[in-house]
Amino acid sequence: MDFTVSEQTRAMIQLMQRFMEREVFPLERAFLAQGFPAIESEAEGLRRKVRQMGLWAPAQPKEYGGMGLPLTDFALVSEVLGQSPLGHYLFGCQAPDAGNIEILHDHGTPGQKERWLGPLVRGEIRSCFSMTEVELPGSNPVMMDATALKDGDDYVINGQKWYTTAADGAAFAIVMAVTDPEAAPYRRASMIIVPTDTPGFDLVRNIAVMGHSGSGPFSHAEILYHSCRVPRSNLLGPEGDGFRIAQERLGPGRIHHAMRWLGVCRRALDLMCKRAVTRPIAPGSVLADKEIVQAWIAESAAEVEAARALTLQTAWKVESLGWKEAREEISMVKFVVANVMQHVVDRALQVFGGLGMTDDTIIAFFYRHERAARIYDGADEVHKLSLAHRILKPYREAHRAGEGGLDVFRG
Ligand SMILES: Cc1cc2nc3c(=O)[nH]c(=O)nc-3n(C[C@H](O)[C@H](O)[C@H](O)COP(=O)(O)OP(=O)(O)OC[C@H]3O[C@@H](n4cnc5c(N)ncnc54)[C@H](O)[C@@H]3O)c2cc1C
Repeated sequence: MDFTVSEQTRAMIQLMQRFMEREVFPLERAFLAQGFPAIESEAEGLRRKVRQMGLWAPAQPKEYGGMGLPLTDFALVSEVLGQSPLGHYLFGCQAPDAGNIEILHDHGTPGQKERWLGPLVRGEIRSCFSMTEVELPGSNPVMMDATALKDGDDYVINGQKWYTTAADGAAFAIVMAVTDPEAAPYRRASMIIVPTDTPGFDLVRNIAVMGHSGSGPFSHAEILYHSCRVPRSNLLGPEGDGFRIAQERLGPGRIHHAMRWLGVCRRALDLMCKRAVTRPIAPGSVLADKEIVQAWIAESAAEVEAARALTLQTAWKVESLGWKEAREEISMVKFVVANVMQHVVDRALQVFGGLGMTDDTIIAFFYRHERAARIYDGADEVHKLSLAHRILKPYREAHRAGEGGLDVFRG
Protein backbone atom coordinates (compact mmCIF):
# COMPACT_ATOMS: atom_id res chain seq x y z
CA MET A 1 0.00 0.00 0.00
CA ASP A 2 1.21 3.50 -0.77
CA PHE A 3 0.29 6.30 1.62
CA THR A 4 2.26 8.90 -0.32
CA VAL A 5 0.39 12.13 -0.62
CA SER A 6 1.25 14.37 -3.55
CA GLU A 7 2.63 17.86 -2.91
CA GLN A 8 -0.48 19.28 -4.51
CA THR A 9 -2.80 17.39 -2.17
CA ARG A 10 -0.67 18.31 0.83
CA ALA A 11 -0.85 22.01 -0.08
CA MET A 12 -4.62 21.79 -0.62
CA ILE A 13 -5.10 20.17 2.77
CA GLN A 14 -3.03 22.84 4.49
CA LEU A 15 -5.08 25.54 2.80
CA MET A 16 -8.30 23.87 3.95
CA GLN A 17 -6.99 23.48 7.49
CA ARG A 18 -6.20 27.21 7.68
CA PHE A 19 -9.64 28.02 6.31
CA MET A 20 -11.28 25.77 8.92
CA GLU A 21 -9.37 27.43 11.76
CA ARG A 22 -9.80 31.02 10.59
CA GLU A 23 -13.24 31.06 9.02
CA VAL A 24 -15.22 27.99 10.04
CA PHE A 25 -14.51 27.36 13.75
CA PRO A 26 -15.46 30.97 14.65
CA LEU A 27 -18.88 30.47 13.02
CA GLU A 28 -19.74 27.54 15.29
CA ARG A 29 -20.59 29.73 18.28
CA ALA A 30 -23.61 31.32 16.54
CA PHE A 31 -24.52 28.00 14.93
CA LEU A 32 -24.69 26.28 18.31
CA ALA A 33 -26.48 29.12 20.06
CA GLN A 34 -29.00 30.10 17.38
CA GLY A 35 -29.08 27.32 14.83
CA PHE A 36 -28.44 27.16 11.10
CA PRO A 37 -30.78 30.03 10.01
CA ALA A 38 -28.68 32.49 12.06
CA ILE A 39 -25.54 31.69 10.09
CA GLU A 40 -27.03 30.89 6.69
CA SER A 41 -26.05 34.12 4.96
CA GLU A 42 -22.54 34.07 6.45
CA ALA A 43 -22.25 30.44 5.39
CA GLU A 44 -23.22 31.46 1.85
CA GLY A 45 -20.38 34.01 1.89
CA LEU A 46 -17.92 31.32 2.97
CA ARG A 47 -19.19 28.99 0.24
CA ARG A 48 -18.44 31.75 -2.28
CA LYS A 49 -14.91 32.04 -0.89
CA VAL A 50 -14.43 28.28 -1.15
CA ARG A 51 -15.48 28.42 -4.81
CA GLN A 52 -13.08 31.30 -5.45
CA MET A 53 -10.25 29.28 -3.92
CA GLY A 54 -11.07 26.45 -6.34
CA LEU A 55 -11.87 24.06 -3.50
CA TRP A 56 -15.61 23.57 -4.13
CA ALA A 57 -17.13 20.08 -4.23
CA PRO A 58 -13.85 18.15 -3.80
CA ALA A 59 -15.28 14.69 -4.45
CA GLN A 60 -17.75 15.59 -7.17
CA PRO A 61 -17.27 15.00 -10.89
CA LYS A 62 -15.17 17.60 -12.71
CA GLU A 63 -17.53 17.87 -15.67
CA TYR A 64 -20.21 19.20 -13.32
CA GLY A 65 -17.97 21.71 -11.56
CA GLY A 66 -16.44 19.61 -8.79
CA MET A 67 -12.74 18.85 -8.20
CA GLY A 68 -13.04 15.14 -9.03
CA LEU A 69 -10.58 14.02 -6.32
CA PRO A 70 -9.89 10.30 -6.04
CA LEU A 71 -11.29 8.56 -2.94
CA THR A 72 -8.03 8.50 -0.98
CA ASP A 73 -7.46 12.24 -1.48
CA PHE A 74 -11.05 12.99 -0.61
CA ALA A 75 -10.69 10.85 2.52
CA LEU A 76 -7.91 13.17 3.70
CA VAL A 77 -10.01 16.21 2.83
CA SER A 78 -12.99 14.76 4.68
CA GLU A 79 -10.87 14.39 7.80
CA VAL A 80 -9.97 18.09 7.73
CA LEU A 81 -13.55 19.23 7.05
CA GLY A 82 -14.96 16.85 9.66
CA GLN A 83 -13.36 18.89 12.43
CA SER A 84 -16.47 21.08 12.33
CA PRO A 85 -20.10 20.11 11.70
CA LEU A 86 -20.10 22.95 9.15
CA GLY A 87 -17.05 21.83 7.15
CA HIS A 88 -18.59 19.55 4.55
CA TYR A 89 -21.52 21.89 3.96
CA LEU A 90 -19.27 24.87 3.37
CA PHE A 91 -17.16 22.94 0.86
CA GLY A 92 -20.17 21.49 -1.00
CA CYS A 93 -19.66 17.82 -0.13
CA GLN A 94 -22.15 17.13 2.66
CA ALA A 95 -24.21 14.00 3.09
CA PRO A 96 -26.65 13.07 1.69
CA ASP A 97 -26.00 15.25 -1.38
CA ALA A 98 -22.59 13.67 -1.97
CA GLY A 99 -24.11 10.18 -2.21
CA ASN A 100 -27.06 11.38 -4.28
CA ILE A 101 -24.65 13.05 -6.70
CA GLU A 102 -22.89 9.71 -7.16
CA ILE A 103 -26.19 7.96 -7.85
CA LEU A 104 -27.34 10.60 -10.34
CA HIS A 105 -23.95 10.62 -12.02
CA ASP A 106 -23.83 6.84 -12.42
CA HIS A 107 -27.51 6.09 -13.07
CA GLY A 108 -29.30 9.30 -14.05
CA THR A 109 -30.70 9.88 -17.54
CA PRO A 110 -29.38 12.93 -19.45
CA GLY A 111 -32.61 14.77 -18.55
CA GLN A 112 -32.28 13.92 -14.83
CA LYS A 113 -28.65 15.00 -14.84
CA GLU A 114 -29.45 18.33 -16.41
CA ARG A 115 -32.32 19.09 -14.07
CA TRP A 116 -30.88 17.79 -10.78
CA LEU A 117 -27.21 16.82 -10.95
CA GLY A 118 -25.71 20.06 -12.27
CA PRO A 119 -27.54 22.34 -9.78
CA LEU A 120 -26.75 19.91 -6.93
CA VAL A 121 -23.01 19.86 -7.60
CA ARG A 122 -22.99 23.65 -7.95
CA GLY A 123 -24.73 23.94 -4.55
CA GLU A 124 -27.75 25.75 -5.97
CA ILE A 125 -30.14 23.15 -4.55
CA ARG A 126 -30.03 20.44 -1.89
CA SER A 127 -31.45 16.91 -1.79
CA CYS A 128 -32.30 14.10 0.60
CA PHE A 129 -32.46 10.29 0.63
CA SER A 130 -35.67 8.73 1.90
CA MET A 131 -35.44 5.03 2.70
CA THR A 132 -35.92 4.28 6.41
CA GLU A 133 -39.47 3.75 7.63
CA VAL A 134 -40.99 4.53 10.99
CA GLU A 135 -42.62 1.15 11.60
CA LEU A 136 -40.07 -1.24 10.08
CA PRO A 137 -36.40 -2.05 10.79
CA GLY A 138 -34.00 0.09 8.78
CA SER A 139 -31.44 -2.67 9.46
CA ASN A 140 -33.42 -4.98 7.22
CA PRO A 141 -34.60 -2.65 4.47
CA VAL A 142 -36.14 -5.42 2.37
CA MET A 143 -38.92 -5.12 4.94
CA MET A 144 -40.36 -2.03 3.29
CA ASP A 145 -43.94 -0.84 3.26
CA ALA A 146 -43.71 2.21 1.00
CA THR A 147 -45.01 1.48 -2.48
CA ALA A 148 -44.63 3.21 -5.83
CA LEU A 149 -47.27 1.73 -8.08
CA LYS A 150 -47.64 2.44 -11.77
CA ASP A 151 -50.69 4.38 -12.87
CA GLY A 152 -50.65 5.40 -16.53
CA ASP A 153 -47.44 7.38 -17.09
CA ASP A 154 -46.92 7.96 -13.38
CA TYR A 155 -45.80 6.29 -10.17
CA VAL A 156 -48.05 6.89 -7.20
CA ILE A 157 -46.08 6.73 -3.95
CA ASN A 158 -47.50 5.95 -0.51
CA GLY A 159 -45.49 5.44 2.65
CA GLN A 160 -44.20 6.86 5.91
CA LYS A 161 -40.48 7.53 6.08
CA TRP A 162 -38.35 9.13 8.73
CA TYR A 163 -34.79 10.20 9.38
CA THR A 164 -34.77 11.70 5.91
CA THR A 165 -31.73 13.85 6.62
CA ALA A 166 -31.76 17.41 5.26
CA ALA A 167 -35.25 17.13 3.73
CA ASP A 168 -36.01 20.55 5.20
CA GLY A 169 -35.31 22.94 2.30
CA ALA A 170 -34.32 20.17 -0.13
CA ALA A 171 -35.45 20.47 -3.76
CA PHE A 172 -35.94 16.75 -4.22
CA ALA A 173 -35.79 13.39 -2.49
CA ILE A 174 -34.49 10.11 -3.82
CA VAL A 175 -37.16 7.77 -2.48
CA MET A 176 -36.83 4.01 -2.09
CA ALA A 177 -40.18 2.31 -2.56
CA VAL A 178 -41.50 -1.09 -3.58
CA THR A 179 -42.35 -1.10 -7.28
CA ASP A 180 -42.96 -4.86 -7.58
CA PRO A 181 -44.23 -6.56 -4.40
CA GLU A 182 -44.10 -9.96 -6.15
CA ALA A 183 -40.40 -9.81 -7.06
CA ALA A 184 -37.61 -11.47 -5.05
CA PRO A 185 -36.93 -9.42 -1.87
CA TYR A 186 -33.83 -7.64 -3.21
CA ARG A 187 -35.55 -6.87 -6.53
CA ARG A 188 -38.70 -5.30 -5.13
CA ALA A 189 -37.66 -1.72 -4.58
CA SER A 190 -36.60 1.09 -6.91
CA MET A 191 -35.24 4.59 -6.51
CA ILE A 192 -37.46 7.42 -7.68
CA ILE A 193 -36.80 11.15 -7.80
CA VAL A 194 -39.54 13.10 -6.03
CA PRO A 195 -39.45 16.91 -6.15
CA THR A 196 -40.38 18.11 -2.65
CA ASP A 197 -43.05 20.46 -4.00
CA THR A 198 -45.01 17.49 -5.41
CA PRO A 199 -48.52 17.32 -3.89
CA GLY A 200 -48.55 14.41 -1.43
CA PHE A 201 -44.95 14.99 -0.24
CA ASP A 202 -45.61 16.11 3.32
CA LEU A 203 -42.80 16.98 5.65
CA VAL A 204 -44.48 16.19 8.96
CA ARG A 205 -41.74 17.41 11.29
CA ASN A 206 -38.05 17.73 11.85
CA ILE A 207 -37.43 15.02 14.45
CA ALA A 208 -35.90 16.18 17.72
CA VAL A 209 -32.56 14.39 18.13
CA MET A 210 -31.46 14.46 21.78
CA GLY A 211 -33.61 17.53 22.26
CA HIS A 212 -32.59 19.40 19.09
CA SER A 213 -34.73 19.42 15.92
CA GLY A 214 -32.22 21.40 13.90
CA SER A 215 -33.16 22.86 10.52
CA GLY A 216 -32.08 22.91 6.89
CA PRO A 217 -29.14 20.61 6.16
CA PHE A 218 -28.80 19.93 9.89
CA SER A 219 -32.14 18.18 10.41
CA HIS A 220 -33.82 14.80 10.01
CA ALA A 221 -37.42 14.77 8.82
CA GLU A 222 -40.41 12.51 9.04
CA ILE A 223 -42.15 12.43 5.67
CA LEU A 224 -45.54 11.17 4.68
CA TYR A 225 -45.99 10.24 1.04
CA HIS A 226 -49.66 10.01 0.32
CA SER A 227 -50.75 9.47 -3.26
CA CYS A 228 -47.64 11.37 -4.27
CA ARG A 229 -47.63 11.23 -8.07
CA VAL A 230 -44.49 11.62 -10.18
CA PRO A 231 -43.85 10.79 -13.85
CA ARG A 232 -42.34 7.37 -14.60
CA SER A 233 -39.41 9.20 -16.16
CA ASN A 234 -38.35 10.02 -12.56
CA LEU A 235 -37.28 6.39 -12.06
CA LEU A 236 -33.56 6.37 -11.25
CA GLY A 237 -31.76 3.42 -12.80
CA PRO A 238 -33.66 0.29 -13.83
CA GLU A 239 -36.80 -0.76 -11.97
CA GLY A 240 -35.99 -3.25 -9.20
CA ASP A 241 -32.38 -2.01 -8.89
CA GLY A 242 -32.94 0.10 -5.78
CA PHE A 243 -30.99 -2.12 -3.37
CA ARG A 244 -28.16 -2.74 -5.80
CA ILE A 245 -27.67 0.99 -6.35
CA ALA A 246 -27.95 1.67 -2.60
CA GLN A 247 -25.17 -0.87 -1.95
CA GLU A 248 -22.90 0.79 -4.51
CA ARG A 249 -23.50 4.15 -2.91
CA LEU A 250 -22.80 2.94 0.61
CA GLY A 251 -19.28 1.60 0.01
CA PRO A 252 -17.42 4.85 -0.68
CA GLY A 253 -19.98 6.67 1.52
CA ARG A 254 -18.70 4.77 4.56
CA ILE A 255 -15.15 5.95 3.89
CA HIS A 256 -16.41 9.55 3.65
CA HIS A 257 -18.24 9.16 6.97
CA ALA A 258 -15.33 7.44 8.69
CA MET A 259 -12.85 10.12 7.67
CA ARG A 260 -15.31 12.81 8.79
CA TRP A 261 -15.54 10.99 12.13
CA LEU A 262 -11.74 10.98 12.33
CA GLY A 263 -11.93 14.74 11.85
CA VAL A 264 -14.25 14.85 14.86
CA CYS A 265 -11.67 12.79 16.80
CA ARG A 266 -8.86 15.09 15.78
CA ARG A 267 -10.74 18.17 16.97
CA ALA A 268 -11.86 16.53 20.21
CA LEU A 269 -8.32 15.31 20.96
CA ASP A 270 -6.87 18.72 20.18
CA LEU A 271 -9.37 20.41 22.51
CA MET A 272 -8.74 17.77 25.18
CA CYS A 273 -5.00 18.48 25.13
CA LYS A 274 -5.49 22.26 25.15
CA ARG A 275 -7.83 21.96 28.11
CA ALA A 276 -5.56 19.53 29.96
CA VAL A 277 -2.53 21.82 29.86
CA THR A 278 -4.47 24.92 30.91
CA ARG A 279 -6.97 23.78 33.52
CA PRO A 280 -5.54 24.17 37.04
CA ILE A 281 -6.59 21.32 39.27
CA ALA A 282 -4.53 22.11 42.36
CA PRO A 283 -2.07 24.91 43.19
CA GLY A 284 0.81 24.51 40.72
CA SER A 285 -0.71 21.63 38.79
CA VAL A 286 -2.96 21.24 35.76
CA LEU A 287 -5.08 18.35 34.51
CA ALA A 288 -2.33 17.28 32.11
CA ASP A 289 -0.16 16.41 35.12
CA LYS A 290 -2.56 13.66 36.15
CA GLU A 291 -1.64 10.21 34.92
CA ILE A 292 -5.24 9.27 34.27
CA VAL A 293 -5.65 12.20 31.88
CA GLN A 294 -2.32 11.36 30.26
CA ALA A 295 -3.57 7.80 29.73
CA TRP A 296 -6.78 9.08 28.10
CA ILE A 297 -4.76 11.25 25.77
CA ALA A 298 -2.31 8.49 24.87
CA GLU A 299 -5.09 5.93 24.35
CA SER A 300 -7.10 8.36 22.25
CA ALA A 301 -4.12 9.22 20.06
CA ALA A 302 -3.27 5.54 19.52
CA GLU A 303 -6.89 4.54 18.79
CA VAL A 304 -7.32 7.40 16.31
CA GLU A 305 -4.07 6.55 14.54
CA ALA A 306 -5.02 2.87 14.23
CA ALA A 307 -8.53 3.73 12.98
CA ARG A 308 -7.06 6.19 10.49
CA ALA A 309 -4.63 3.62 9.10
CA LEU A 310 -7.47 1.10 8.68
CA THR A 311 -9.65 3.68 6.94
CA LEU A 312 -6.97 4.90 4.55
CA GLN A 313 -5.96 1.33 3.75
CA THR A 314 -9.60 0.57 2.96
CA ALA A 315 -9.99 3.72 0.84
CA TRP A 316 -6.94 2.66 -1.11
CA LYS A 317 -8.37 -0.84 -1.60
CA VAL A 318 -11.76 0.52 -2.75
CA GLU A 319 -10.03 2.86 -5.16
CA SER A 320 -7.67 0.28 -6.63
CA LEU A 321 -9.72 -2.95 -6.46
CA GLY A 322 -13.35 -1.81 -6.21
CA TRP A 323 -15.73 -1.75 -3.23
CA LYS A 324 -16.71 -5.41 -3.54
CA GLU A 325 -13.11 -6.49 -2.88
CA ALA A 326 -13.04 -4.26 0.18
CA ARG A 327 -16.37 -5.33 1.70
CA GLU A 328 -14.82 -6.80 4.85
CA GLU A 329 -12.65 -3.78 5.52
CA ILE A 330 -15.56 -1.42 4.90
CA SER A 331 -17.53 -3.19 7.63
CA MET A 332 -14.53 -3.00 9.98
CA VAL A 333 -14.08 0.72 9.28
CA LYS A 334 -17.74 1.40 10.01
CA PHE A 335 -17.84 0.03 13.54
CA VAL A 336 -14.20 0.60 14.53
CA VAL A 337 -14.17 4.31 13.70
CA ALA A 338 -17.67 5.00 15.06
CA ASN A 339 -16.62 3.55 18.42
CA VAL A 340 -13.21 5.23 18.52
CA MET A 341 -14.95 8.54 17.89
CA GLN A 342 -17.36 7.94 20.70
CA HIS A 343 -14.59 7.10 23.18
CA VAL A 344 -12.51 10.10 22.20
CA VAL A 345 -15.41 12.57 22.33
CA ASP A 346 -16.50 11.13 25.66
CA ARG A 347 -13.00 11.51 27.14
CA ALA A 348 -12.75 15.06 25.81
CA LEU A 349 -16.08 15.91 27.41
CA GLN A 350 -14.91 14.42 30.71
CA VAL A 351 -11.71 16.48 30.67
CA PHE A 352 -13.80 19.62 30.09
CA GLY A 353 -15.94 18.81 33.13
CA GLY A 354 -19.15 20.88 33.41
CA LEU A 355 -18.05 23.04 30.51
CA GLY A 356 -18.07 19.93 28.31
CA MET A 357 -21.81 19.53 28.86
CA THR A 358 -22.57 23.05 27.61
CA ASP A 359 -22.78 24.42 24.09
CA ASP A 360 -19.92 26.79 24.89
CA THR A 361 -17.62 24.34 23.10
CA ILE A 362 -18.28 22.07 20.12
CA ILE A 363 -17.82 18.88 22.17
CA ALA A 364 -21.43 18.54 23.38
CA PHE A 365 -22.66 18.88 19.78
CA PHE A 366 -20.37 16.03 18.75
CA TYR A 367 -21.50 14.00 21.75
CA ARG A 368 -25.21 14.47 20.92
CA HIS A 369 -25.11 14.03 17.18
CA GLU A 370 -22.31 11.56 16.59
CA ARG A 371 -23.78 8.92 18.89
CA ALA A 372 -25.90 8.08 15.87
CA ALA A 373 -22.79 6.90 14.01
CA ARG A 374 -23.22 3.46 15.56
CA ILE A 375 -26.78 3.30 14.19
CA TYR A 376 -26.89 4.80 10.70
CA ASP A 377 -25.03 3.54 7.65
CA GLY A 378 -25.73 0.02 8.85
CA ALA A 379 -25.95 -0.50 12.62
CA ASP A 380 -22.61 -1.72 14.05
CA GLU A 381 -24.13 -5.08 14.90
CA VAL A 382 -25.17 -5.71 11.29
CA HIS A 383 -21.62 -5.02 10.09
CA LYS A 384 -20.16 -7.28 12.78
CA LEU A 385 -22.52 -10.10 11.85
CA SER A 386 -21.79 -9.87 8.15
CA LEU A 387 -18.02 -9.63 8.77
CA ALA A 388 -18.05 -12.63 11.10
CA HIS A 389 -20.15 -14.52 8.57
CA ARG A 390 -17.52 -13.94 5.87
CA ILE A 391 -14.61 -14.77 8.18
CA LEU A 392 -16.26 -17.97 9.38
CA LYS A 393 -17.37 -19.19 5.95
CA PRO A 394 -14.16 -21.04 4.98
CA TYR A 395 -13.90 -22.51 8.48
CA ARG A 396 -17.44 -23.86 8.26
CA GLU A 397 -16.70 -25.29 4.82
CA ALA A 398 -13.48 -26.90 6.02
CA HIS A 399 -15.26 -28.35 9.02
CA ARG A 400 -18.00 -29.79 6.78
CA ALA A 401 -15.31 -31.33 4.56
CA GLY A 402 -13.73 -32.94 7.62
CA GLU A 403 -10.72 -30.61 7.49
CA GLY A 404 -9.49 -27.86 9.76
CA GLY A 405 -8.48 -29.73 12.92
CA LEU A 406 -8.05 -27.75 16.12
CA ASP A 407 -4.34 -28.49 16.56
CA VAL A 408 -5.10 -29.73 20.06
CA PHE A 409 -2.21 -31.73 21.49
CA ARG A 410 -3.60 -34.69 23.33
CA GLY A 411 -1.99 -37.60 25.01
C1 LIG B 1 -28.74 10.70 12.53
C2 LIG B 1 -29.38 9.74 11.58
C3 LIG B 1 -29.45 10.07 10.23
C4 LIG B 1 -30.10 9.21 9.34
N1 LIG B 1 -30.24 9.58 8.01
C5 LIG B 1 -30.99 8.81 7.17
C6 LIG B 1 -31.28 9.25 5.85
O1 LIG B 1 -30.85 10.33 5.39
N2 LIG B 1 -32.09 8.47 5.06
C7 LIG B 1 -32.60 7.29 5.52
O2 LIG B 1 -33.32 6.62 4.77
N3 LIG B 1 -32.32 6.84 6.77
C8 LIG B 1 -31.55 7.58 7.61
N4 LIG B 1 -31.30 7.15 8.90
C9 LIG B 1 -31.90 5.91 9.38
C10 LIG B 1 -30.89 4.80 9.58
O3 LIG B 1 -30.47 4.33 8.33
C11 LIG B 1 -31.56 3.73 10.46
O4 LIG B 1 -31.78 4.29 11.74
C12 LIG B 1 -30.70 2.49 10.55
O5 LIG B 1 -30.70 1.80 9.32
C13 LIG B 1 -31.22 1.52 11.65
O6 LIG B 1 -32.57 1.24 11.44
P1 LIG B 1 -33.61 1.43 12.64
O7 LIG B 1 -33.43 2.75 13.25
O8 LIG B 1 -34.95 1.09 12.09
O9 LIG B 1 -33.19 0.37 13.74
P2 LIG B 1 -33.55 -1.20 13.74
O10 LIG B 1 -33.35 -1.78 12.40
O11 LIG B 1 -34.86 -1.36 14.39
O12 LIG B 1 -32.40 -1.77 14.68
C14 LIG B 1 -32.35 -1.41 16.07
C15 LIG B 1 -31.07 -1.95 16.67
O13 LIG B 1 -31.10 -3.36 16.61
C16 LIG B 1 -29.80 -3.88 16.46
N5 LIG B 1 -29.82 -4.79 15.29
C17 LIG B 1 -30.33 -4.54 14.07
N6 LIG B 1 -30.19 -5.60 13.26
C18 LIG B 1 -29.58 -6.55 13.99
C19 LIG B 1 -29.17 -7.89 13.75
N7 LIG B 1 -29.33 -8.46 12.54
N8 LIG B 1 -28.57 -8.56 14.74
C20 LIG B 1 -28.37 -8.00 15.97
N9 LIG B 1 -28.75 -6.75 16.26
C21 LIG B 1 -29.34 -6.04 15.30
C22 LIG B 1 -28.86 -2.71 16.26
O14 LIG B 1 -28.21 -2.44 17.49
C23 LIG B 1 -29.79 -1.56 15.93
O15 LIG B 1 -29.28 -0.31 16.37
C24 LIG B 1 -30.63 7.99 9.80
C25 LIG B 1 -30.52 7.65 11.16
C26 LIG B 1 -29.91 8.50 12.05
C27 LIG B 1 -29.85 8.12 13.50
